[in-house]
Amino acid sequence: MTAAAPFRLESCACPLCGEPPPTKTRAQFGPYRVVDCRSCSMRYLTPRVQESDVARLYGSEDYWEKGGSEGGYSSYASMEPLLVRTFVRRLSLLPPRARGARLLDVGCGPGAGLNAACSLGYDAWGLDVSETAAKVASFRHPGRVRLGTLSDRLFSRSFFDVITLFDVIEHVYDPRALAVDLAWHLAPEGRVVVATPNVKSLLARVTGRRWVSYKIPEHVLYFSPRTLAEALAPGFEIEHVSSCGQYVSPDFLLSRIGDALPFGGSILRAASRLLPPGRAALYANSGSMLVMARRSPAP
Ligand SMILES: [Zn+2]
Repeated sequence: MTAAAPFRLESCACPLCGEPPPTKTRAQFGPYRVVDCRSCSMRYLTPRVQESDVARLYGSEDYWEKGGSEGGYSSYASMEPLLVRTFVRRLSLLPPRARGARLLDVGCGPGAGLNAACSLGYDAWGLDVSETAAKVASFRHPGRVRLGTLSDRLFSRSFFDVITLFDVIEHVYDPRALAVDLAWHLAPEGRVVVATPNVKSLLARVTGRRWVSYKIPEHVLYFSPRTLAEALAPGFEIEHVSSCGQYVSPDFLLSRIGDALPFGGSILRAASRLLPPGRAALYANSGSMLVMARRSPAP
């Protein structure tokens, strides 16, 4: 087996406002710098993996089967009941809708969000850039899953009532183009629900460069409520912003706390392996925010 070629890197200007990158670095991870834009305060990664190499980062079977930096499919399968619960909790934010309203889960992975949305009566559709993930989701939700991104415009215009982007927007290279694509896919009055790490969260501030959401090189954008609102303007009106977390098993939580500690983390990680991968679920704040926005009426 030959080792994969290393990813090619590109340095970039602020993806939100175009300001050249600052010389000051907030956190350094190998060749990658996390910086704060001097003009709009957007936090982003530069250099980043060249866009033409990104498909290789997510497209490989290894990403889901052996682990990528997100833990892989075996880990995903054991976490699925927790992911479904997390998804249902986040969707409770939406106003009541007619049964059969169409929902698109962008970055659907193997389909936990689709299961959750179906259980709530939505006509649930999925989209993912990973062939492996899309295949699994498609097997479970035949005819309802596409391989690609929103910019591929694989659905009809204004087809959806709700679009969910849970732990997705931090991976996106062009947030302004994303906002245009979101508006294009949504019906008038349609809503987008976004969950993403919040640089203003207490967890982000306290854990600094050990913040669990610095997943390098996959996460290229790190939003605050203000920069996220900026990214979604002018197509959307923000209706709700709150902190959010996720349901996790106690062993997972212990291991993540171990990762965030400057010392003594190895003891916690070892302890986490002694716990049975339990069914018990805890709701843990991960330093993320949940944002709901409504499509603005066309000008
Ligand atoms: Zn900027």
